[in-house]
Amino acid sequence: MFNFSETNATGRRHKQVKNQQSKDSSNLPISTSSYWWRYIKHHLCLGILLSLALFGCTPSNPSNPTAGGKPQVVATSTIIADLAEEVGKDQIQLTGILQPGTDPHVYEPRPQDSKFLEEADLILYNGYNLEPGLIKLMNAAGTKARKLAVGEVAKPLQLEKSKGEVVPDPHVWGDVKNAIAMVNAIRDVLIELSPEDKAEFTQNAQQLTTELQQLDSWIAQQIQTIPLARRKLVTTHDAFQYYGQAYNIPIAGTLIGISTEEQPSAQTVKQLVESIKKIGIPAIFAETTINPILIKTVAQEAGVKLAPRQLYSDSIGAPGSDGDSYSKMMQANTQTIVEALGGKYTPFQPASSKKN
Ligand SMILES: [Zn+2]
Repeated sequence: MFNFSETNATGRRHKQVKNQQSKDSSNLPISTSSYWWRYIKHHLCLGILLSLALFGCTPSNPSNPTAGGKPQVVATSTIIADLAEEVGKDQIQLTGILQPGTDPHVYEPRPQDSKFLEEADLILYNGYNLEPGLIKLMNAAGTKARKLAVGEVAKPLQLEKSKGEVVPDPHVWGDVKNAIAMVNAIRDVLIELSPEDKAEFTQNAQQLTTELQQLDSWIAQQIQTIPLARRKLVTTHDAFQYYGQAYNIPIAGTLIGISTEEQPSAQTVKQLVESIKKIGIPAIFAETTINPILIKTVAQEAGVKLAPRQLYSDSIGAPGSDGDSYSKMMQANTQTIVEALGGKYTPFQPASSKKN
C-alpha cells in the first residue's frame, strides 16, 4: 500500500507540471484531475489486491521504485521532461524535478529531490553543466539508476567564459536538429529499460521527430523573413547560440554569459548599450527564467524596444501558456523574435496535423 501511494506521489508531480499553474508544488497536493483520480483509484485497488494476495498484512517495501510495473524515470529540466513524456507516454512513470520558469543554472535542490533520484530507474538530465546543483546531487546520491546526459548527445559549441576558460554551451535544444537527436537517445534508453514497450517508444519518437523536422524548416523560413540588417539577437543570457547558428540569426550581444550565476558589471552594461545603438536593431529580449529589470534598463538606455513577449530560454512555459511544450516554446520564441524584429510571422502548421 505504502508502496503504491509513494510511487503515485512522485508520478503525480510531473502531471502537475503539465496540468496546473506553476506555483509551488513542493507539497504535492492531491491532484483533482480526473486522469489522476482514475489512475490512483486503479492502482490503489490493484495495490490492495496484490498486498492481500502476496503479502497478507505485511507492509511492502516503500522504496521499491518499480512498484506498479512502470519504470520510474526522473528528468531534471522541463525540456528533457517534456521530450521524455512525449516518447514514454503511459509506459513510464515520469517525475520532472524543475518546474516551468525555474532557472536550472542556479537551482538549489530540495530534500525530496534526492529521494526522487534515489528511487529512479533512469535519470535523464541535460548535462554540459546546465543544472550543476542537480548533477552534483545526482552524483552524490546513492542511486542505482541508469543516467543519461541527454543534451550531451549533441555536439557542443565551445564558448569562452571569463578569463579564457572554454566550456561547452549547454543550450543545445536551441537547434531543433539537436532535439531530434535527444529524442532518439531517449527512445533508445527507454527501450533498454523496458524492451517490451519498444513498439510504443519507437512510434512515439517517430511521431515527435516528424513534427520536429517540420518545425526545424519552419523556424528557418520564419527567421528569413526578418530584413537582414535587423536579423540580430540581443538576449539576457547567452542561451541562443545554437538557435542563432541553426537559423541564421547571429547573437549580437548578451547581458550575461551562458550561466546566469554571473552578475553583469557596470562596464558590461555600458558596452552592451553602446553596441545596441551601433547595430541599430529595433528590439532586444527578456527571458522567462530571469528577472527582466536590468535588460529593461539596457533597452531604455539604448533607445530600443524590449520585445513585448519574453523568450523561453531554459525552461518550457507554465501549463496553459503558449510555450508549455518544447515544440510550442520554440514556436513562441520564433514568433516573438520575428514580430519584434520586423519579419513576417506565419503560424506553424505541421503537415501531419495530429497535434497532441
Ligand atoms: Zn541558460
